[in-house]
Amino acid sequence: MSFPHFQTEKFSFLPFGSIRPAGWLKEQMQRDLEGFVGNLDRIVPELINDPVYGEGRLRKNSRVKDLGNLKDGDAEGDEQYKWWNSETRSNWWDGYARNVMMLDDKYGIEKVHAYVTAILATQDEDGYIGIYDEEMRYNFDSENGELWSKATLYRGLLAYYEYTNDQKVFDALERAVQNVMDHYPVNASHPFHTGTAFNGGVAHGLTFTDILERLYFHTGDNKYREYALFLYQDFSDSAQSEGDAQPSNILNPHYKLKSHGVHTFEHIRALIIAYSASGEKKLADALAIYLKRVEKATTVSGGAIGDEWIAERDADATHTGYEYCSLQELLDSYCLLLQKTGNAETGDQIEKIFYNAAQGARNPHHSCIAYLKTDNSFEMLGTRNGETEPERIQTRYKYSPAHQDVAVCCNPNAGRISPCFIQSSWMKEDDTSLVATLLMPNTLKTVLNGVNIQIEIITDYPLKNEFEIRITQPVSSVFKLKIRKPGWVNNVITSENYVMQDEFMVIERSFYPRDQVQFSFETDARIRTDNNNARYFTYGALVYALPIHADEIIGKTYVGNFRDITYKPVSSVRFAFKRKVKPLYKNGKIQTSLISDLTGKPEKVELIPMGKTILRQVTFKC
Ligand SMILES: [Zn+2]
Repeated sequence: MSFPHFQTEKFSFLPFGSIRPAGWLKEQMQRDLEGFVGNLDRIVPELINDPVYGEGRLRKNSRVKDLGNLKDGDAEGDEQYKWWNSETRSNWWDGYARNVMMLDDKYGIEKVHAYVTAILATQDEDGYIGIYDEEMRYNFDSENGELWSKATLYRGLLAYYEYTNDQKVFDALERAVQNVMDHYPVNASHPFHTGTAFNGGVAHGLTFTDILERLYFHTGDNKYREYALFLYQDFSDSAQSEGDAQPSNILNPHYKLKSHGVHTFEHIRALIIAYSASGEKKLADALAIYLKRVEKATTVSGGAIGDEWIAERDADATHTGYEYCSLQELLDSYCLLLQKTGNAETGDQIEKIFYNAAQGARNPHHSCIAYLKTDNSFEMLGTRNGETEPERIQTRYKYSPAHQDVAVCCNPNAGRISPCFIQSSWMKEDDTSLVATLLMPNTLKTVLNGVNIQIEIITDYPLKNEFEIRITQPVSSVFKLKIRKPGWVNNVITSENYVMQDEFMVIERSFYPRDQVQFSFETDARIRTDNNNARYFTYGALVYALPIHADEIIGKTYVGNFRDITYKPVSSVRFAFKRKVKPLYKNGKIQTSLISDLTGKPEKVELIPMGKTILRQVTFKC
């Protein structure tokens, strides 16, 4: 992807709550809410209810917590376990709150009100909301979760503020952020200089820039941007165990990505924000290089290496896995990039992650997800397609509502990904333009040029490529409706007059109080080539896979009939690509022929969207 340097930001986000899911996406989120997303506080109550921001704040002599995970072969040290529950708790609440608010779930919203009230009650006189007692806070020379515990918590509080407009929440947040700025003064302190040992929690803390960016969005106050730039600069010249995003590494042509994947992908946002704040060409160049590197680490489904360190590898459909957390973090970073650049191709990348890798790491039949998953998934018995790892007991390649034996990080993030995706699906270009940046069934309510407007997109996308947009407003008004045209579209069918502008269809006319726009995209089943010269099949936004039948093995069970599940394949036959075939798309399936390694002969097969599969073959060698 070419990265356009942005002088001014192309689009702007809408406040959380402006966009709601509809259709199949809403139904899926409702099932999530009845499933692990709505019940993680019952599944792992001791983690979610850890009073780490309140009476359980960490002190000098705080003991390492027993989080119920296996620590065998864990080289990163114990210190991180002290802050882990803040991430688990805050990311879960963030996702839970966004789901219930987007779904208007009354019970859940009451619960979120109570949670926010309780969290605000932990705020100290001086504004501090965090996990350390007075003697420890802002005073570290090693691994800590000071900024990270705040980033995860404050992101959710910001969404809550945007949904409720509760000014006291915003005021509390501004005071809490001011408290950080007072104790880590801008350009005169070193929050990221914490020695040379593993400091993954410190590096996660760079996502505090998410908070600063959103406060800038609300206030326009430049101090937040300046502070974000300062954090990135301090991170840049400190010793970091997860330092892929440091300019010295980015601008070194021989450097290959090696950090913990989640860090690498979440740090894209910090780099974007630092560039926005400074306008420095060096940072724009760094961002362009960094994005290219991330693409090389990304499989055809959008799954960037996260199993868990990138370790200088390029993406591989069988041998590199992705963590659910890394899917969420990369998707979130691309959403920010899309807002800044208006680049339609970034929208394609976001949809690729959500509709393929992320849907494909959910269990289609039970409420649980894979912590780690590969595109070609030949077994899900704990390890990466049966590979042994000398230094770890690998159990992440399975489906679980919690993954407590490893870390309860992915399940909370699996609750965040749908709201994050939906929240970026409409943006504004100016007072007279609304932009459908990501395509899905949803409903937007906003004010455009003083007129209250509601827009519903009715569609089964991405399973079908037909759309009906229903517009409701009190009076007729003239505005521009911009719709991103994905790169795979052969032809647009519509009776509307439109012009193309940077891969967006622009419909500009007077819309009636009740109006509608209909369009559909023509495409065909395609054979594509991955970076290892294997072939794979797509139709529209979806990557297709050959499903592999499997026996389901029930593992650990939790409250409410939630359980871990592993999958053992019934057959170990693999297929290779057959040249000179023309795949045919029919009723949601791709029909083609592949060569069986059992018989050496071609067989007729039916491929289905990888998002509907458990075990599967996605790529086929030539
Ligand atoms: Zn995770």
